[in-house]
Order: sequence, then C-alpha cells, then structure tokens
Amino acid sequence: MRITGLTATPIAVPFTTPEIWAYGERRGLVSVLVEVTTDEGITGLGEAPAYPSAEIIQAVLETVRPLVVGEDPTLIERLMKRVHIVGTWHHVKATSPAIAAVEMACWDIVGKLCGQPLTTLFGGRVRDAAEYCFYATGRTPDDVAAAAKPGIEAGYGTYYVKVGADDLDADIARVAALRDAVGPDARIRVDANEAWSVAAAIEAIEALSGCRLEFVEQPVSGRDLAEMARLRARSRVPILANEASWTRYDQLDVIRHGAADALSVDNQMDGGLLNMKRSAGIAEAAALPVVKHSLGELGVATAAAAHVIASTGNFLYPSQCYLPLLTDDVVVGGVPAMTGGRLEPPTGPGLGVTLDADRVSRYADLYQREGGSFSFTTPNRTTPELPKR
Ligand SMILES: [Mg+2]
Repeated sequence: MRITGLTATPIAVPFTTPEIWAYGERRGLVSVLVEVTTDEGITGLGEAPAYPSAEIIQAVLETVRPLVVGEDPTLIERLMKRVHIVGTWHHVKATSPAIAAVEMACWDIVGKLCGQPLTTLFGGRVRDAAEYCFYATGRTPDDVAAAAKPGIEAGYGTYYVKVGADDLDADIARVAALRDAVGPDARIRVDANEAWSVAAAIEAIEALSGCRLEFVEQPVSGRDLAEMARLRARSRVPILANEASWTRYDQLDVIRHGAADALSVDNQMDGGLLNMKRSAGIAEAAALPVVKHSLGELGVATAAAAHVIASTGNFLYPSQCYLPLLTDDVVVGGVPAMTGGRLEPPTGPGLGVTLDADRVSRYADLYQREGGSFSFTTPNRTTPELPKR
C-alpha cells in the first residue's frame, strides 16, 4: 500500500462559553483535519489542533507531504523516522501537532486495513472507557459555578479550573465557588499554566489547600525543574507537570529531578499516539501516573487518544477533553456522547469515526470567515509578565 495524497482542511467550531485562562481567552476551537489517501482506496483521518496557528500547521504539512507520498502508511515507525530525520523536524516542538495528525491518519489506515479498532492495535482494553475531568471555565466565581453545572448534571467526578489570575483572592473565590457547586466528594484540579513564582505558588497552594485539591497543575515555570522539585517538596497538594513534560525527553527530565507527582502527556506535542503510549510507559517505570493533556481537540483527535487511554494502564487519573465545551463537532452524529465523563472508544475499524461532510463544510466556511477570532490571540489583549506574581 502507498500513500497517494494528503489534504488539510482548517475548521473552526464555536464553544458554548469562552475559554478563559491566565493569558487570554478564545471562543472556539480551530483544528486542521488531515486526510491521508492511499492507492488501495483507504483514507486515514487525523486532526491537528491549530497550535500555534492553522497556517503553521498547514505549512508544516506542505513540507511533510513529499516525504510521505509514495511511502507505505503501515510502516509507521519508519515513516515517522523519515519525517523527523529526513525532514529535520526532530528538534522543532511547535510542529508536532501537524506530524501527529499524519501519524494518527496512518493508524486509522492500519486499523481499517485490519478491520480492528485502535484500542486492539494498542494492546487491547484495560478499561472500558477513557475518563475525563470537566473543564469549568469562567472569569468570576458565579461564572465558574455556572460553568460546572452541566458537568454536575452529567455526573463528572473531577473538575478542572484555571488559576493564576493577577489577584490570588480572585483565584481563591473561584475555586471555593467551584467546591461549593460540586460538593465535598468531587475532585478539583487547578492549573496555573506557569503563572506563579515559587514563592507565589507556595502562598497560593497554602491558601487553596482548604478547597481540597486533587492536583495543582504546572504552578511554576516548566523550564526550571530544580525549582519545581523545591516547590514539590514544600507543597501540600500533589504537583502535576504539564508545560514541563511535553515530550518523552522532557518527561524523563521531570522524573530525574523528582519535579512532579504525575505527568501530563500528549500525542499532539510529541508527534504521535505511539509516543504517547511510550510516555505512559516511561512514567509507569518511575511509578508516576499520567493524564492526557489536550490543546483542544474535536471528535477525531479525541477518539484517537481515547483508544490509547483505554488500552494503557497508567492513565490512572481523568484526562483533559474539550468535547463538553463544543457547540458541535465534525464527526457524524455531532459531539460524541459521554457518560459521567467517560468516553468509550469507538468500536469500528481504525479511529472508528467518520466525518460529516455538511458539518465539515460549515465549519471550514466559518474558519475562512472568522478563523483568527477563534484563537487565543484575543484582540487588544495585554502582554502578561511572567511570572505574574
Ligand atoms: Mg495545563
């Protein structure tokens, strides 16, 4: 079998409510859908979040195209080595989602060729469903409490909220409002996205620990692992690495420094699903659990990762998922249904998802009309200082 072509379609899908974090906000997701065609009539699907932009993802795909067309899509290890080494993409992290989307599409092709879902190809089910936390996004305490409501009604057990505002009291009020809303038994994970200095993080974690947190995610810069380790030694709340642990090499460094209690891993940021499986194995050897990080993914990429989560034992805590924030999706049936924050991987061959042509056309048009306004590049946004406190 040979790859005959590669198409890229940028799409924009609105959120039900804007996503707000320490550095801005966005009102929807932009992704680039990737379709890899073959000479045997099988087409593989992939999806790359538009990081840092859809234009850059498309530009990377243009450079990858001549490296993959004519190659055998079932030789995934070999193909990725070719892209990374011959294509000299092996040291450029920002390009990873584009390459990960091609790898994802190749796995879809292999699954369709074998007539098996990816879960089976990645080792078979160790759990029936991937579990996710519910993202309660909002600017004020009332906003956050209101944002959590659909998650409470759907029976989620873990809630995720951004912190790292300029005003610590505002963070405390929002987390306290979330605790009030979700009740005493639910777990709450806060993510500062590196906004704090170590001293500020110690103060913030002390202040927030009354809210009974599951993890504090990347409280300080991920670039200084000695400082992360120093904070971890003093923190009453377990530390979840994220910006410190984008790739397998970063994860190994976090482990060597003793800088976290758990690791975020991400196929998009480390060039593919197989690498995410490897990440989980590296962390497992260090007795650290992993969660899947998401840059924001629609039904295609969410399904792909769910297959890996369901077939890999070390995803012991709920992962990140943007499906509950979406007004719609591009897969047949719209936004995939979850039960209590659990998504069963599709059982069809490959990723097990099919694009809905009408929806793809609608959201491709929306990207062409308004694409830029869906990104984090909020007009008139001020440039924050780092660390913020
Ligand atoms: Mg994070």
